[in-house]
Amino acid sequence: MKENRIYNFNAGPAALPLEVLEEIKDSFLNFGGSGMSITEVSHRSKWFDDVINDAVARTRRLLKLDDRFSVLFIQGGASMQFCMIPMNLLQGDDSADYVNTGTWSTKAIKEAEILGKRVNVVASSEDKNFSYIPKNISFNSNAVYAHITSNNTIKGTQWASYPDTGGVPLIADMSSDIMSRPLDVDKFGLIYAGAQKNIGPAGVCMVIIRDDMLGRVPESLPSMLKYTTYASKNSMYNTPPCFAIYTIQLVLKWLEETVGGLEKMAEINEKKARILYEAITSGEFYRATAAPDSRSLMNVTFRLPDEELEKRFIAQALENGMGGLKGHRSVGGCRASIYNATPLAAVEALVNFMKTFEKKNG
Ligand SMILES: *Cc1c(COP(=O)(O)O)cnc(C)c1O
Repeated sequence: MKENRIYNFNAGPAALPLEVLEEIKDSFLNFGGSGMSITEVSHRSKWFDDVINDAVARTRRLLKLDDRFSVLFIQGGASMQFCMIPMNLLQGDDSADYVNTGTWSTKAIKEAEILGKRVNVVASSEDKNFSYIPKNISFNSNAVYAHITSNNTIKGTQWASYPDTGGVPLIADMSSDIMSRPLDVDKFGLIYAGAQKNIGPAGVCMVIIRDDMLGRVPESLPSMLKYTTYASKNSMYNTPPCFAIYTIQLVLKWLEETVGGLEKMAEINEKKARILYEAITSGEFYRATAAPDSRSLMNVTFRLPDEELEKRFIAQALENGMGGLKGHRSVGGCRASIYNATPLAAVEALVNFMKTFEKKNG
C-alpha cells in the first residue's frame, strides 16, 4: 500500500488503478506537450481527439466489438439510460422484456413505465429479497429487447452466464462489471455502464450500441436524448466530459498493457472473490447474503452476527486502512467492492483482518 492511501472497497465512485492516478498527476499541468491541462484543452483539438479515439479503439479491442457496434460517451449516468433506452427503441405498440434482480433493475423498469411503454417483467427475484439470479426464463419472441442488470451492485449478485433469449437482443446494465471478464458480444443489442464503478470517474456513461438498434431511433426525439446524435458526432455534438473520458482511456490502457487483457483480469478477479468468499463461508461468524450460484465477483455482500458487531467491524477496518465496507443504506450489513482496480493485496489484507476480528469477537 502506498503511503497515505487506504485499501478502497467503495462501491462507486470506486478505486482507480494507482498507475492511472499517477499518470494523471504527472501529466496534469502539461498534457501531451500542449502547455495546458487536459481540463483546459479544447474538445475540438487534436489532443482530445487522440484521447477519445484511443478510448474507443481500446474498448473495441478489449470487448472484441465488430463494425456493427458504436461506442458512445453520454452524460447523465447509467440512470439516464433507464429512460433513453425505451425512448429510443420502443415506439407505438413495441414491447420490451425486463428481468428484475434488484434496485437498479427496478428503476430501469420504472422509467420505461413512466414513458408509457409496454414492459413485461418476465422474471424477478424479489420473492427472496433479490438474493439470486432467476433461471429458465421464457422471453417473448416479439420483444424488441430483453433488459438485464448484469451485476447487482447493492444485493451482491451477478449473472454467471447470460440468459438464452431465443434471439431477442439483450440489453445489459453493466455499470458494476463491465471489463471485468471477457464478453461474447453477439447476444447484445446495447450495453451501458456508468464509468464510476469499474472504468473511470463519475460523469460519463459508456454506451455500446448495435446498428439495428441505432436504426430504431426516431427523428422526433430531442437531439441530446437521441443515440444517433452521439453516434454521428463521435460523442462530441456538444462538449463531452473530457476529463472523465481521458481517465477511462488511461484505465483501458492499463487493462491492455499492464494487466494484459480481460482473460487475465478475469483470472485475478476470480481469485480475489474466491479467497474472500472462503473467508466468509468458512465458519459461522460471517454469512454471505447471496445464493451460492449467484454470488457477485465484484460486490461481496455479507453479514455479521448482529448490527453492533457490523458497526465495530466497519470502524475497526477503517482504523486498519480499509475503507468503504459499509453495505448500501437500503440493505445494511457489509459490502466489499472488489472491482478491477482493487489489488489482490487489498483482499488479502481484508481477509487477515476478518480472521483477527472474528477471534476477538466470535
Ligand atoms: C451505480 C449503478 C447505477 C447508477 O449509476 P449512475 O451513474 O449513478 O446513474 C445503475 N446501475 C448499476 C448496476 C449501478 O451499479
